[in-house]
Amino acid sequence: MLIGHEAILRELRALATDPEPPHALLLAGPDGTGRRLLARFYAQVLNCERRDGGAPAAAGMFAAEAVEPLPAEQLPCGECRPCRLIETDAHPDVVHLAPGDTLCKPRVGDSSHPAHPQSRDIRICQVRGLIELASRYPFEARYRLVMVEPAERLAREAAHTILKTLEEPPGHTVFALVSAAPEALLETIISRCRRIDVRSVPRDEIEAGLVAGGIDAALAAEAAAASRGRPGRALQYVEDPDLMAARGRLLERCATISIASVADRFRHAEDLATRYRKERSGIEGDLDAWETFWQEQLRRAAPERGEAAAEALAALKAVTQCREDLLTNVIPRAAFELMLLRFPRLRLDVTTQEEPAAHA
Ligand SMILES: [Zn+2]
Ligand SMILES: [Zn+2]
Repeated sequence: MLIGHEAILRELRALATDPEPPHALLLAGPDGTGRRLLARFYAQVLNCERRDGGAPAAAGMFAAEAVEPLPAEQLPCGECRPCRLIETDAHPDVVHLAPGDTLCKPRVGDSSHPAHPQSRDIRICQVRGLIELASRYPFEARYRLVMVEPAERLAREAAHTILKTLEEPPGHTVFALVSAAPEALLETIISRCRRIDVRSVPRDEIEAGLVAGGIDAALAAEAAAASRGRPGRALQYVEDPDLMAARGRLLERCATISIASVADRFRHAEDLATRYRKERSGIEGDLDAWETFWQEQLRRAAPERGEAAAEALAALKAVTQCREDLLTNVIPRAAFELMLLRFPRLRLDVTTQEEPAAHA
């Protein structure tokens, strides 16, 4: 379910209905904001059978019957075969390139190429597979969509190779690079892409979107408040209210650690690093909780307590830095230690209150 981003949807619609749509998008923004859904939306408008002149390139068994084209602002129709297949993530021409084994194609004659389902990077062998794929016609789409995510995990050689494809894109393939850390991408890659900054969505828009999707009003309000502007996160909370309870526990732990000794903080950094090794995404909730916690400290400190406000701001920067460090090649434990040591040590009295923002 795509919530918010009206201006971006208008932009994508205009781009996709242009006679020469851009062949590479860079969707830059935090996880959970809807970047993948926006890429899919772009693919839908490009491939919708009711797009003017939008009959599939490969006229064959799936060729559309003659249908009345829709005005551009009503695209995608959401009902034709391409629209439905893309919506349900079942379109054979929507390809997701991610760290792991997807599209891995070892060099010819390289029989010792190891499998790498757990690799952290998008490797050159995968880009080789991608280039081979892009050289073929799509199965049935007019435009194949290749989503590269997270794009900042393109290994160096892989990035240089994909750049060549972006410079001379095959006519039937569009790329959507999805990244939470676009500054880590090669400047030459960024300059080949149409950049779209996907920002957080206002809380009331998320809430309204959830309610429109049939979610109970009270749950929608709570999930929207807890989501920190990320509709994807709000949907996770709605699907699994236990996650929201877990968030409450995380906030309590933030309060405990914010008054703890340096030794305790080091221990906690180790704990975070251990969990990070097991499941990287599990740490997101912790970092979100820290942001919520320090924003709340900031809100309480302002305006009369200048020093406390400055400390809370510095703590928020430390969380942002930690996220960036985890996306680059900093050792996770060092990233967590740095963050926790940059946090000010609070006194008990300012940390024991409930967090009103989430319950307002
Ligand atoms: Zn359609
Ligand atoms: Zn490989």
